[in-house]
Amino acid sequence: MREENVVIVGAGPAGLTAAIYAGRAGLSPLVIERLQPGGMMASTDLIENYPGFEAGVTGMELGTKMHQQAERFGARFEFGEVHGLDIVGDRKLLRTDLGEVNTRALIAASGTGHRLLGIPGEREFFGRGVSTCGTCDGPLYKGKTAGVVGGGNSAAQEAMFVARFAKKVYLLHRRDALRADKVLADRLLATPNIEIVWSTIPLAITGDAHGVNGMRVQNKKTGEERTIAVDGFFIFIGLIPNTRWLGDAVKLSAEGFVTTDPDLRTSVPGLFAAGDVVDKEFRQITTAVADGARAARMAERFLDQY
Ligand code: NAP
Repeated sequence: MREENVVIVGAGPAGLTAAIYAGRAGLSPLVIERLQPGGMMASTDLIENYPGFEAGVTGMELGTKMHQQAERFGARFEFGEVHGLDIVGDRKLLRTDLGEVNTRALIAASGTGHRLLGIPGEREFFGRGVSTCGTCDGPLYKGKTAGVVGGGNSAAQEAMFVARFAKKVYLLHRRDALRADKVLADRLLATPNIEIVWSTIPLAITGDAHGVNGMRVQNKKTGEERTIAVDGFFIFIGLIPNTRWLGDAVKLSAEGFVTTDPDLRTSVPGLFAAGDVVDKEFRQITTAVADGARAARMAERFLDQY
């Protein structure tokens, strides 16, 4: 079994920043990532609110830069999935695709995934017209019609991206006021080929052998049901934490996010959490980066006292 000082699970902005800080502290952290550096940020088309990039930056570019910066300071990256965690005394034993890893300090920066609706057609047509990534799949809808569900920042941002290609985008929102930040909401409302279908929920996604061809929707105020013809359907209804691998080793909130104190200590000494996986209010790249720095400094302090 491999012995490590610091393991960081997840290479989104929180994990990458923790890797930069732990690397600079000479701790040679091991970062385990399931997909690609950048995490969910990597599939964001344009990031306009990350300081220092006045013209914006793509999520892929920012993720690549952070990854390279972490490697420059001695962070090691391995790609695989962490399946489980056991706390044995003061050691944290990770069960991973790469074998077992035994570490003194652990930073959980495993982020979130997209919540799904659980309606008919969603699973059946996933990858055949149903998507949770507008930036990835938007270009497939050149001259076509797409549906989007959600009223938050993700739905607003991704609907506008899809609308660059699609002839028409219907955005379904279950209320009559958007949750998205004003700057994004104003831009969304001003996009001519986006129609917001207020107070409406999707009931089913319909399709055939060629993929999606419509969405059955219901107006929540009137109860009226109708089918809107669409060629694709994008879901942005919030986030679910990637915390299954933590099992019952650490205290989680009712929604499954990791409970921490303000210094990102969890219920297990030497186990810290950072980024979107933390039970907190604001989930931004900047707040993830701040968490990563703090968690790494706390891990460093923990190891000093070990
Ligand atoms: P979110 O803020 O939780 O918004 C989810 C949206 O989906 C809400 O409008 C919600 O409606 C709706 N919804 C939830 N369950 C639904 C259901 N079963 N059926 C229909 N609609 C449903 O999620 P998000 O937009 O993915 O954003 C997640 C976090 O990332 C947020 O903290 C956000 O600020 C952040 N983020 C920031 C940026 C940025 O700063 N540019 C970009 C993307 C994401 P209600 O409004 O009625 O609850």
